Amino acid sequence: MQIPAGRGTVSPVIRVEPYDIASVVTGAIRLDGGAMFGVVPKVLWSEIAKPDELNRVHLSTRTLVAVDRTGGRVVLVDTGCGTKWAPDGIRRYKIEFDPTAIDRYLQTLDLSAQDVTDIVVTHLHFDHNGGLTEWVDESGGPTRLRYPNARHWVHQRHWDHAHRPHLKDRGSFLKEDFDCLADADVLCRVEGDQPSPPFEGVEWFVSFGHTPYQLHPVFGVGDQKLLFAGDLVPTVAHLRLGWVMAYDVEPMRTIDEKRIVFRHALDEGWWLALPHDPSTGGIAIEGTPERPVVARALDL
Ligand SMILES: [Zn+2]
Repeated sequence: MQIPAGRGTVSPVIRVEPYDIASVVTGAIRLDGGAMFGVVPKVLWSEIAKPDELNRVHLSTRTLVAVDRTGGRVVLVDTGCGTKWAPDGIRRYKIEFDPTAIDRYLQTLDLSAQDVTDIVVTHLHFDHNGGLTEWVDESGGPTRLRYPNARHWVHQRHWDHAHRPHLKDRGSFLKEDFDCLADADVLCRVEGDQPSPPFEGVEWFVSFGHTPYQLHPVFGVGDQKLLFAGDLVPTVAHLRLGWVMAYDVEPMRTIDEKRIVFRHALDEGWWLALPHDPSTGGIAIEGTPERPVVARALDL
């Protein structure tokens, strides 16, 4: 595997045939530490993720950028919090979002937002895909897609859930993040528990514990693969099998799904890309599915 030098605000690029893949930090968010670590006592998690005065822990928001030059494909996975936030929300979560972060990285490859061919929407929580849309004019008015040329891949059953969320998780879905997608010609609805691959070099892994039908892309053909772990493993701290978020709708199922992912990573050498870790965009692991540890991390 070829890992060239880093590029400023992105992790070093991983070569996973036929893609060059990087993790771009689009911003940051602070979420309640208790919510991030579920039943884990604060005395344990606070040693790893130091909370601020409001008990919030600092998280990055990351977009995976995968480029297949030969196949002419530019893929984004998740798009961060976006620009549609009012001051109250920004204060509550201390949201930072750099609307030019992805564009700047694409520029280093002589690409632009117009060249993005596909967006994988792992799930529609606001911290993952608020960046799909922006206000056309003023706050609260109509929205438009930020990547109008890209096909937007969303699991149909997750799409349905996002439109009828449960009381427990409805605060995580903001309709303005995805409403205008319904009428756009770019929505690609993924179906089934084991969906067929969308295009060359990508397969789907579907999980249910964090949110119904979270869609994880597995990049690569042949020996090298990389899975975007999404909110199944948001940070390195969540490598601990039992450390799952209170946000999860089925936390015990999350644990089972993490075990499956870790087994793949260990047996087949999969890299795991993490959406929220402040220090690393991707890791290789060693150990066992019950007690995985970082073997290699891509530092910012
Ligand atoms: Zn989530």
